[in-house]
Amino acid sequence: MKTCDSLNPFDISFMKLHVVLAAVLLTVSSCMMIGKGVVHTVGSGETLYRIANTYGVDPQDLAEINDVDDPRTLRAGSKLFIPDARRVLKVNPLPQARAVATHETKSKINYVVEPEREDRIVMDKKRFAWPVSGMVESRFGMRSGAKHDGIDIKAPEGTPIKAAGDGKAVYVSNMRGYGNMVILKHQDDFYTVYAHNKKNLISDGDKVSKGDVIASVGDTGNAEGCHLHFEVRQGKKVRNPLFFLP
Ligand SMILES: [Zn+2]
Repeated sequence: MKTCDSLNPFDISFMKLHVVLAAVLLTVSSCMMIGKGVVHTVGSGETLYRIANTYGVDPQDLAEINDVDDPRTLRAGSKLFIPDARRVLKVNPLPQARAVATHETKSKINYVVEPEREDRIVMDKKRFAWPVSGMVESRFGMRSGAKHDGIDIKAPEGTPIKAAGDGKAVYVSNMRGYGNMVILKHQDDFYTVYAHNKKNLISDGDKVSKGDVIASVGDTGNAEGCHLHFEVRQGKKVRNPLFFLP
């Protein structure tokens, strides 16, 4: 069986980008149900950084895949998906937090954090603009045992989809699962992906400005109901779009 990480589009030169993107997105799509990793239940005094460190995971990745935008809000008892881990490990809690927890058993907030470490969680909310306005009906990360590489924004059929930032179209076509799809390349090796479109309204190589209409909302591919599936990628990494939207 193929593994999910056997291919990555963003490793390869732009010459082959289209073909490779297609191959990878198909691979990604076929891997969506695998979700390699374990679920860790946060214990008292366990901080995001300590958990990430115990499992050898980048704290930023752990924060993004679990939608933790403020590590101070992490509560004992909440569940974190640890990507690529094979078994649940014991995390050494922060000693002071134990004392705090006994006073705060009702709220069980792990508000003792290691600021010099945990302030490394980067929120870059001005980088992109919302491509459509609407309710986020499915968020990024592990959703009922499957990994969701983007967010789903509900919107009526035909709603204009706007470029999330200035950039250039590097893939405008149709792909199994994703339906009609546009991929834009932006500064700093960021890419945005717009899928299940009713119609793509730009062409490969077009330059776009933030807010330009690039497609319309539909339900092409394997979409259930009309929505925009929106992804943010940086280089090889799939990022949590909500960390980059105002
Ligand atoms: Zn989606």
